[in-house]
Amino acid sequence: MEDRRLPRGPGKTAPRLINDLLDYDPKYREQRGGKNILADVAQRFRTVATPRKRPTDCRHALMKIVPNTVAPVSDDEQPNGDTKYVVSTFCQRCRYHFDITVDFTRWKDHQTPCKLSDPENPMHHLQLVESIYTKDQPDRLQASKYNPTLELHLFSCSRKTCPVQVDIKISAPRLIRSMLGPIMDNTKLHARGAKEIQKDPQRYTGLQPVTAAVALGYLKTYLADARAARNQPGPKRIAKRNKKYALAFGTECDTLFEYLDFKTIKEDTQEPDEEPAYFWRPPVITDTNSQFIDDVITELDVLLADRSPSEQQASNIRVAYHPLPALKDIERSLGYFDYPKRSRTVDLSKEEHPYYLSLGAVDDFTDELLTWAYDCQCECDPANKPYYLDCLEDLAKGRGSPDLQMKVVMATSAGEFGLKAIEDAYKFFGLDPGTKEGDDHIMGLYKSRIASAPRQKDEARNCLFAIAKARNSAKIEALANDKTMSHEEALEFFGVSSDTPSDSIGAAAVVMIQALDADKSKVTRALRVIANQRNDSMLKQAALDMETGNRNTMLDVGEAYSRLQISNRTVPDETIFAYYQSLTSDAAPGSKDSFSEALRAIATERNSNFLFTKLDDPNAIVQAGPSTADQPIGLDNIGNTCYLNSLLQYYYTVQPVRNVVMDFQNHRMSLNDEDIKKKRVGGRIVAKPEIIKAQKFVDELHNLYENLKTASTRSIKPTRELAELTIFSSAAEANFRRASISSPSGPPNLASILDNSLERPVYGPHLPPPPTRPSPSPVEDDIEMVDHPNEKNGDNGDNGDDSSEATLVDMDSLPSYSDATAKDGEKLLRSEKDQAAHDTSADGDAVMVNGEDFASGEKSLSVPEKQPPLPPRNKSGLVIQTNDSRNLISDDELWKFGSQQDVTEVIGNVNFRLQCAIKPTSIDERSGEQIDVVRDTLYGSNAVYLQKSERAPEQKVEAWANLIIFPAPTGTRDIYEALDVVFDEQMVEIDNTTAAQHASIYKLPPILHIQIQRTAFDSVKQIASKNRNPVTFPETIYLDRYLDSEDPESTLMRRRRETWKWKAQLRDLEARQAALHDAEAELSVPDALMAGKEFLIGLQETEELKDISTSPTLPDQLEERTAQVAEELGAISKEIAGIKQNLTEQFTDMRQYEYKLQAVFIHRGEAGGGHYWVYIYDFENDIWREYNDEYVTEVKDRRRIFDHQGGAGGTPYYLAYVRSADRKNLVEAVCREVPEVQEVQQTDPSSDWLEEGQDVCMAIDTDDENDNTRHVEHAKPRPLRPKPAADIAGWDTSMGSDLDANGREW
Ligand SMILES: [Zn+2]
Ligand SMILES: [Zn+2]
Repeated sequence: MEDRRLPRGPGKTAPRLINDLLDYDPKYREQRGGKNILADVAQRFRTVATPRKRPTDCRHALMKIVPNTVAPVSDDEQPNGDTKYVVSTFCQRCRYHFDITVDFTRWKDHQTPCKLSDPENPMHHLQLVESIYTKDQPDRLQASKYNPTLELHLFSCSRKTCPVQVDIKISAPRLIRSMLGPIMDNTKLHARGAKEIQKDPQRYTGLQPVTAAVALGYLKTYLADARAARNQPGPKRIAKRNKKYALAFGTECDTLFEYLDFKTIKEDTQEPDEEPAYFWRPPVITDTNSQFIDDVITELDVLLADRSPSEQQASNIRVAYHPLPALKDIERSLGYFDYPKRSRTVDLSKEEHPYYLSLGAVDDFTDELLTWAYDCQCECDPANKPYYLDCLEDLAKGRGSPDLQMKVVMATSAGEFGLKAIEDAYKFFGLDPGTKEGDDHIMGLYKSRIASAPRQKDEARNCLFAIAKARNSAKIEALANDKTMSHEEALEFFGVSSDTPSDSIGAAAVVMIQALDADKSKVTRALRVIANQRNDSMLKQAALDMETGNRNTMLDVGEAYSRLQISNRTVPDETIFAYYQSLTSDAAPGSKDSFSEALRAIATERNSNFLFTKLDDPNAIVQAGPSTADQPIGLDNIGNTCYLNSLLQYYYTVQPVRNVVMDFQNHRMSLNDEDIKKKRVGGRIVAKPEIIKAQKFVDELHNLYENLKTASTRSIKPTRELAELTIFSSAAEANFRRASISSPSGPPNLASILDNSLERPVYGPHLPPPPTRPSPSPVEDDIEMVDHPNEKNGDNGDNGDDSSEATLVDMDSLPSYSDATAKDGEKLLRSEKDQAAHDTSADGDAVMVNGEDFASGEKSLSVPEKQPPLPPRNKSGLVIQTNDSRNLISDDELWKFGSQQDVTEVIGNVNFRLQCAIKPTSIDERSGEQIDVVRDTLYGSNAVYLQKSERAPEQKVEAWANLIIFPAPTGTRDIYEALDVVFDEQMVEIDNTTAAQHASIYKLPPILHIQIQRTAFDSVKQIASKNRNPVTFPETIYLDRYLDSEDPESTLMRRRRETWKWKAQLRDLEARQAALHDAEAELSVPDALMAGKEFLIGLQETEELKDISTSPTLPDQLEERTAQVAEELGAISKEIAGIKQNLTEQFTDMRQYEYKLQAVFIHRGEAGGGHYWVYIYDFENDIWREYNDEYVTEVKDRRRIFDHQGGAGGTPYYLAYVRSADRKNLVEAVCREVPEVQEVQQTDPSSDWLEEGQDVCMAIDTDDENDNTRHVEHAKPRPLRPKPAADIAGWDTSMGSDLDANGREW
């Protein structure tokens, strides 16, 4: 055999290989597209097993051809370097031949072939080297009649120590079925015999037609005689006229006889008129055909044995056929005879699990062998390790084998991942496992995920690892190993921010290693990342020192104390700092450094955050130890809840809301059915369960606020329930509601999704205003509601589900429910709107109808800009259970949902819940809408004017909870420019005519929320993108210019109209400017003209080109034109500047409605992820604070907030402005009341609720959730009994009937 190619791919253990051989039917290979279960890799199993063979396939019964077989005669026989076993077999069913050769001749000295006694390599594990098919490569695998070879498969043992090569040669039956036809078919035989006898009945007297058994017997006899006659002269001829021959074969079998090497002999007779006689001379046995004839004889035996017993008996042919099964020889040759098998009940009817095939194993392998097969497979085919791990894991489960399970665990802990785990890993990052995204994209997803969800980091890392393994990406693996670290991560690692001075970071690094015993390499890495980011040589040196082990840069702490002249080392931090301050106040710069060094050494030794902070900034407000009463406290990140903490912190500073929450028992909405019936929030009825849920929310909020007020810790942790109630359910329920409405199967029964005990249908919750435009909602007396609540009431009282559908439709037609993607809603809305518009013209009343956003009939013309489309509201891929008995939502779901929620939606949800939970202060007479503190404080409204004809414009009033502005498509835009887009006149097309429309602020809320809508949705790519262009906003804004004026000729309106005219001019000028100065080509018209002129002059001055005629005046004309254009551009610039000047000055004298910036919400990262925090202004102390989860820190450098490109790296997305005039009553940043702390170790957690009158503050360490969250109960008994921390059962109890609004039993 020529030199083999190298084996590759997965292998098969010897038993597997032989099992596959027995199952492989070469007859059908062609029909099956060349599939070959013997040589091919087993098909990967997913969920459904495809049968690997068909019922027609032969399960071979291999018999050995004894003379050709060389196999071990006993189990003890050991092969040597000359050994070459051959087991020559044929199948006694299909007569195919299989020759199995096991070749040891490549045995090198150091090798030991696999054997059962060797635990390392108990069996051969055979990898395919090559398959050769005669049909494809006739030159490599010759075939002939004598040896009709079809296939040759070459295998090598994959074990390094094993020299064994295994060849399997398959050849076709020697007797071709088509040739056998005439002697195998008894009907044909009978017909032929009968015909022959009829021709000469006398001659055949006493003879009958023969059977197949007889014919086969004759043929076998002829051949056996021929074989016996080998080396002897002249075997007996067979006369074709011979009666027996004529009956059995006749002329029909000539082809068969010739094929079998019979030769026709013609013998002329002596008699001239007689026909010549014809004979068969039986085959002459030579070396060439000897084996062939043997094989044919054997096959004839097989065929004979196949005839029915009666036929055999009648034929008088002695069937001397005693085949010997070949399997034992095969097993011995391959060295796996009698291998240890697991004891089990064998169910032969069942196919082996495909996972066995994939592992190259068989079903009866012991756990040990199976493990070994798995190892071999992983070694041979590392690319598919994950799949093999899945196979092993599943088989381990199926067998219930602890050993196998242990093997799986070990593989997993060694960093292996199953295919399913890898798929899950991709899904964790929202990726399809087959994603074409590059490594960088995935790394980006990981970074953004851990930035927004530090608590998911371990899981995220694990997933990243799996992906790294699957992709074999060193880059990703390095990231998963934390070998790369982002600047943010490095900062986070040290718990510092980007503006922390380098020397404190250096000190923190030392502390982490010395005091906290942190991973030194990680600390060094983090330090280097920051050092490189800042290009700070001191930090670089520190990282280097750390790496080289030169840690002795720190001053000895005793020396430090003496340098600061402190003899008592137990004095508090504050005292040490006081010493430091007094020493440094008038020290020379050089000695100041040495005092700082001393302070740092002490800070390091004490691990004192207070001292470190003071070292950076002596004026910094830091709590030495526990929190103080003059500083707000942080909220622990409970995992990926996006802007949850920002929102909770912000609402805490809104006094009217805080007061209601703190004093909830006096504001609680009664659950009296009569009262509920009257309640309208967001233009709709609210059902009792919604109120109960909302009150649950406020109860939770109340507890949180109590803690924010009184906790002695630096941060507290919001509960999961609160997170869910804040972020979750209303929109989720809305989705459910939409799904129900769009379902064609009939009227939705929404009652069923909330509570069976409902008295009336429950409607979807009030969605927050749509992002494109503030949501109209009735607030003012002179607004007529589209949705007449009284009528609705009657309807609801009368009917059941039918009315619920009708009402739902009505609800949906309310603008606040509008959804750009909900076609049905749009249609309904339009008709409703038409109706409303009609009403308006009839009685002139203002009717609440929304603007162009919801009416597809209106199309904006010549709008200054087109707003980017928004992401669709229905969040894809999220199925959220909404029944109340559900378990808490998983972190991941909560995060996913939260990250897909628009902040406006969540704020809308918070407002809605607050309003549902509290009782109205009054009720709007016309709309029935609840008036309450939330509405009074946060809701404004716009008047939208539409000039349809010469007559007075139509006015509509739309309520909103925030104004939505957009960044410019390119460049920076200030907040007025952004607000102008909302309020400026624009042309809209309505009923095929063009009409002017503008809006004014009808009611300014005391607290004005402005959303900077940065997320745009690309409907083609189906992805959300983030517009990061800066929107600048000052600390003070004046809103006079947008206020509604009833008099169209008022000064304000005149000025506004003037600005609109200017802006139109500005657009024209800018267009002209752009035309003259093609910014993209970077060549202005004047430049082009000048270049043309130069060229012409060049032409005229060139002697050779004198013939080209150019107008002699042309250069001058060009120059003149150049001057003109340049002049025009200059004029345009001047004019633009003038208009812009006018625009900025137009309203500067109008400063009555002054608002102060109070909160700035920041997002850093991509759309749908990232990190969130909020800056809140403290008017009392004139400081800004950053509320970044558990950290609340003062912002020293306000550029962090106002300089959009600033170091913080985030973009503002939500602003809160508060009315200057009464801001003292509206917002308050610090609201703290810390009782004197007396820590008491509580031993019985069940008694963590204090009885009234007790006045102790206890800190109870609970070890739930595996972190050291400290749940603090406070000295002052709360008005409401908080739920025990252990009870996280959720809403079901409160949704049930156990407690009423006042906490009493129902
Ligand atoms: Zn067979
Ligand atoms: Zn081997």
